[in-house]
Amino acid sequence: MSSPQTTTLRFEHESLAQRVVFATGDAALALRREVERLGATRVLVVAGPLEAPLADRLCAEVPVAARFTDVQMHVPVTVAEAARRAARECAADLVVSVGGGSATGTAKAVALTTGLPIVAVPTTYAGSEATPVWGLTEAGRKTTGTDPRVLPAVIVYDPVLTVTLPVDLSIASGLNALAHCVDSLWAPRANPISSSHAVEAMRALVAALPAVRADGGDLDARAQLLYGAYLGAVAFAAAGSGMHHKICHVLGGAYDLPHAPMHAVVLPHVLAYNAPAAPDAARRIADALGAEDPIDGIVDLYDRLDAPRSLADLGLAEADLPEAVRLVAEAVPSSNPRPVDLDALESLLRDAWVGRPPARNRHLETR
Ligand code: NAD
Repeated sequence: MSSPQTTTLRFEHESLAQRVVFATGDAALALRREVERLGATRVLVVAGPLEAPLADRLCAEVPVAARFTDVQMHVPVTVAEAARRAARECAADLVVSVGGGSATGTAKAVALTTGLPIVAVPTTYAGSEATPVWGLTEAGRKTTGTDPRVLPAVIVYDPVLTVTLPVDLSIASGLNALAHCVDSLWAPRANPISSSHAVEAMRALVAALPAVRADGGDLDARAQLLYGAYLGAVAFAAAGSGMHHKICHVLGGAYDLPHAPMHAVVLPHVLAYNAPAAPDAARRIADALGAEDPIDGIVDLYDRLDAPRSLADLGLAEADLPEAVRLVAEAVPSSNPRPVDLDALESLLRDAWVGRPPARNRHLETR
């Protein structure tokens, strides 16, 4: 006889086809093999100026046709066009990106219009390499979309490449990954498969982040962060953008705030807002944090990590808050576990701006 849970279980989930190579200490060899496997002979290498020397080392035995180094956060449209021109002019048959989400995003902009495959070699925990989501910025507004052509064909992970990421930025980037997990538990297409990825990712991230704070050279912890970043991004890709990502999308596009620290600052506030109305997600997040209560758990984690707390510290002007509230109000999904109004958003964003601890149960009214 089937249980009630079995008969009520109904969901849709899309698994994305992608090859993932975890090659600790061996990124150059793994990259060469993957380029050969794809039969590429003219590779466009996308890496910002800081990552360019690393990319050159990793690509020493790769048939490089051209290099594109004008990588910028949130991919301005002019940069996307220049990268596409570089791909056209060298008749590229593959794009290799080396760097964080900005390098991956630039490679995605090329793939979006050319259909060229991407091999992504991530050096942060942004997770863009595991999503079919692209983003472009023009005149202070960020446009995002989903297109299967921008999902990298292959990811080569090597935690050794992330050891140079400063510890503060590593913490912020790891919390960006944690935000993918948390938000995916209540995002519009959340389902049992995306949630199980999110839960395993949270476990890995919560264990590894304090270890990296204590020792930036801890390779095992860095590997766990990459693993958690990948799984969290897979969960996010399947579940879609929830309230947290909509807020950060607005703030990042309109006010050019640094991506990972901004995600880190906003996360506890969205968690505190949604948790009372999403008890199953709240329990899973609390479990992953090793706490009775998810808000106590995240406050304690942030204390241990000395995590970023304030949007003002990141450069958001107080005068921009009213506009930000309006823009965010238009973007929050109607499926959010708690209804959102201008007052609630104003309080939430002001708390995040000041750097106050997340408020509990403010404006709570369940549907
Ligand atoms: P980033 O790629 O801009 O990197 C941040 C800084 O760290 C840069 O100065 C970079 O040069 C430096 N850096 C990167 N790796 C390093 C390393 N190993 N050692 C030393 N320095 C290093 O930042 P990010 O947070 O990785 O990515 C942010 C961008 O990615 C944003 O534009 C965001 O919108 C996008 N993103 C997209 C998705 C998606 O699914 N489409 C997901 C996450 C992030």
